[in-house]
Amino acid sequence: MAFSLELDEEQRDLRDWVHGFAADVVRPAAAEWDEREETPWPVIQEAAKIGLYGFESLAELFGDPTGISLQIANEELFWGDAGIGMALFGTSLAVAGIFSSGTPDQLAEWVPQCFGDEDDPKVAAFCVSEPQAGSDVAAMRTRARYDEARDEWVISGQKAWITNGGIANVHVVIASVDPELGSRGQAAFIVPPGTPGLEGAKKIKKLGLRASHTADVFLDDVRVPGHCLLGGKEKLDARLARAREGTRSAGGRSQAAMSTFEVSRPTVGAQALGIARAAYEYALEYAGDREAFGRPIIENQAIAFALADLRTEIEACRLLIWQASWMARNDKVFDAGQGSMSKLRAGELAVASTEKAIQVLGGAGYSREHPVERMYRDAKIYTIFEGTSEIQRLVIARAISGRQIR
Ligand SMILES: Cc1cc2nc3c(=O)[nH]c(=O)nc-3n(C[C@H](O)[C@H](O)[C@H](O)COP(=O)(O)OP(=O)(O)OC[C@H]3O[C@@H](n4cnc5c(N)ncnc54)[C@H](O)[C@@H]3O)c2cc1C
Repeated sequence: MAFSLELDEEQRDLRDWVHGFAADVVRPAAAEWDEREETPWPVIQEAAKIGLYGFESLAELFGDPTGISLQIANEELFWGDAGIGMALFGTSLAVAGIFSSGTPDQLAEWVPQCFGDEDDPKVAAFCVSEPQAGSDVAAMRTRARYDEARDEWVISGQKAWITNGGIANVHVVIASVDPELGSRGQAAFIVPPGTPGLEGAKKIKKLGLRASHTADVFLDDVRVPGHCLLGGKEKLDARLARAREGTRSAGGRSQAAMSTFEVSRPTVGAQALGIARAAYEYALEYAGDREAFGRPIIENQAIAFALADLRTEIEACRLLIWQASWMARNDKVFDAGQGSMSKLRAGELAVASTEKAIQVLGGAGYSREHPVERMYRDAKIYTIFEGTSEIQRLVIARAISGRQIR
């Protein structure tokens, strides 16, 4: 196929469709749900009604052979608002976990339950982090033990900072089945709706993404049927045997959480890019309207150059995200940590762009009368979750040097 960066008709339609929803529904509702600090169920329902929230739309996004449709949708949605965006897209991280480890039967059974239906939409949660294991995923203490007599897995532990934790219909839980193997001894499990022993803690009050529910999740001898192990027991046993022998599985994708992050990092980068672009566009327009010293402030190089730099970064960042997404979709190995590069650059840009936007707006930018204040609060998480900026640098440094950088 000839090389082209031009979007095809389907991708352009997708961009315009999601942008329309973000502009007409999401952006106008953003301040309200940020203040309320509640999951915006009516917006989720509206997205489900038009087919933007659900299995089919996500399957279409994942199905694009270029890999970039998912990123186009994320950029536009999060351009609308990151808190509502995360309330809508948090589910897809759990779904990505099912996609990356599950069998086709497991996909067919569980992914629709992650979303519910348009009259009664549901959300899902991807549970990896723990109080003692955030960046250091290998330090995970949640254990899953196989009860052979009943063909059930018994999961116990505590998960921390979980998006949709406790309010999710389906929780995808990463647990250690062989602690001696570190992250290579981990597996992903479905905890079906209503399973006894799983409890969500109180919603955590946060700086930003306040429309998105974040909470700890407690798992106390949670019993799930054998078929809830994603990928199945045979595959897990073979993988553990290989890990015990000290060999790696093809592509190094032996870790249940890590293989999900590989795919999801460019996606999270696209969300950060959406915030960065929203702040930049708002500041650009404001700088054209606002006058000081008898001329629009954009006619000062200090302002215009700052905006020029932001636009340059936005364009560069998008290319990095698209490259990493294309690589992930086409099974190319991230030989220089390209997934991490895209998330690192976009996360840092979201913070820089929103901060600069506030500066361009002056006092107005510091107030809640303008959305850049909320964007600034929302942006900061993008240097923290899905791997902090330091961890992304670690991944890139290890990939380019081939050394165990610490
Ligand atoms: C709003 C929100 C939503 C989240 N949603 C989810 C979710 O849905 N599912 C989920 O599983 N998790 C989720 N998380 C958790 C998130 O992924 C973790 O917070 C993140 O991975 C960082 O872990 P930590 O908070 O334990 O920080 P720590 O790991 O304690 O890190 C603290 C600091 O030390 C630095 N650091 C640590 N190790 C190194 C090193 N080797 N080299 C250099 N610096 C280092 C870090 O970069 C960071 O600056 C969420 C978090 C938040 C805040």
